Amino acid sequence: MSKIILTGDRPTGRLHIGHYVGSLRRRVELQNSGEYDKTYIMIADAQALTDNADNPEKIRQNVIEVALDYLACGLDPAKATIFIQSQISELCELTFYYMDLVTVSRLQRNPTVKNEIQMRNFEASIPVGFFTYPISQAADITFCKATTVPVGEDQLPMIEQCKEIVHKFNSVYAPENPVLVEPTALIPANKACLRLPGTDGKAKMSKSLGNCIYLADSADEVRKKVMSMYTDPLHLQVSDPGHIEGNTVFTYLDAFCKEEHFERYLPEYANLDELKAHYTRGGLGDVKVKKFLNNVIQEELEPIRNRRSEFEKDIPEIYNILKKGSEAAREVAAQTLSEVKSAMKINYFEDVELIRSQSEKYSK
Ligand code: ATP
Ligand code: MG
Repeated sequence: MSKIILTGDRPTGRLHIGHYVGSLRRRVELQNSGEYDKTYIMIADAQALTDNADNPEKIRQNVIEVALDYLACGLDPAKATIFIQSQISELCELTFYYMDLVTVSRLQRNPTVKNEIQMRNFEASIPVGFFTYPISQAADITFCKATTVPVGEDQLPMIEQCKEIVHKFNSVYAPENPVLVEPTALIPANKACLRLPGTDGKAKMSKSLGNCIYLADSADEVRKKVMSMYTDPLHLQVSDPGHIEGNTVFTYLDAFCKEEHFERYLPEYANLDELKAHYTRGGLGDVKVKKFLNNVIQEELEPIRNRRSEFEKDIPEIYNILKKGSEAAREVAAQTLSEVKSAMKINYFEDVELIRSQSEKYSK
């Protein structure tokens, strides 16, 4: 069986370091690993509209931002098909049929959607499109028969939901010759990267919460954000013992720091464990740790920022890449949709046997 990657992002803002450690960094590695037959990367504008219906311009403006961030991180249109969700109308048809296979109560149980509804204060007025986006996400994943979906931890319930839809579809419509493929989520092995917290210490760095370090931030913006980050509220004096748990600066170090960074920027410590031990004992100030973190993050972001400014010089070419990617994705989606409709037996005009048996019934 082919090994196929699909993943994507909502164009609700520029991409941030949470996306980077949660999914983006991994995608680039997978794309370059040579182990996958195809890689599809989707800019999920239609999904973003489900909770931004009154602000379509925000979504329209951010499509290019996300595309630039992709290319800056090393996603390569020669190796990956980068496309825009709304351009693949077949996804709507797939969603429409999958809707019959999911109950309202199953959607209500989805913990990520529950959480997002709360975050957006949607309790009394949830847009139907938002409520059902896990179903459309199943269409996004299955149109290309994706086997592997590299995502952050918050996406696990979506992949679970998708698997259920695939299973139900295949067992109802195609028990002998399964049409759809069950995907596997690939989440980061590093615990700190599963759900990177915001610079304010809130549970998740999120475009919608304004607590992000963006990949495109200038060196100065990054430094300012790092220096004002949330740490340990009980660590008031340098001599006080500090806490690592829930301390965002250390979580970011867990996500980004390698031993070689110590040699370069903080040679008095051999590794992160030594730094943590000193902080916990007391006698190590937040400023010193933050300066170190700033160096580590700057080193990772600088080449990304430089590549981005190169790509920014030819914006029409970026739209061209997205257009070509969307055309390629659309062809694949049309093929899968045709298989889906055949399995559902709603391909009336190609069904010679149906036409023959009906005419036989009436000729008697
Ligand atoms: P929005 O607030 O509009 O939902 P978002 O910041 O949550 O935006 P998405 O486009 O929903 O971003 O998510 C894209 C991908 O990035 C998903 O795979 C998601 O799991 C991952 N991701 C998002 N935020 C984080 C984070 N803080 N840590 C790790 N992974 C993340
Ligand atoms: Mg999200």
